Amino acid sequence: MLEITCEQIRREVSNYMEADLTAALKRQIDDHVRHCPGCKAVYDGVRNVISLAGHGAIIELPSGFSERLYRKLANK
Ligand SMILES: [Zn+2]
Repeated sequence: MLEITCEQIRREVSNYMEADLTAALKRQIDDHVRHCPGCKAVYDGVRNVISLAGHGAIIELPSGFSERLYRKLANK
């Protein structure tokens, strides 16, 4: 199994949100965020958006969404 990097996680969470990932990749993301607090913060932020928008819905992120997440991480 290929190891997934933090950079990949942060890129793939938007695909995750659009339900556009394979089950295997989703599992890798789930495993990764379990022991990586930085990615977990990003992942949780995206999941909050998912639960607001409803599963499977294709939505647009408010502009600045990622920027806010990264700023939140930087403030840790
Ligand atoms: Zn990570």
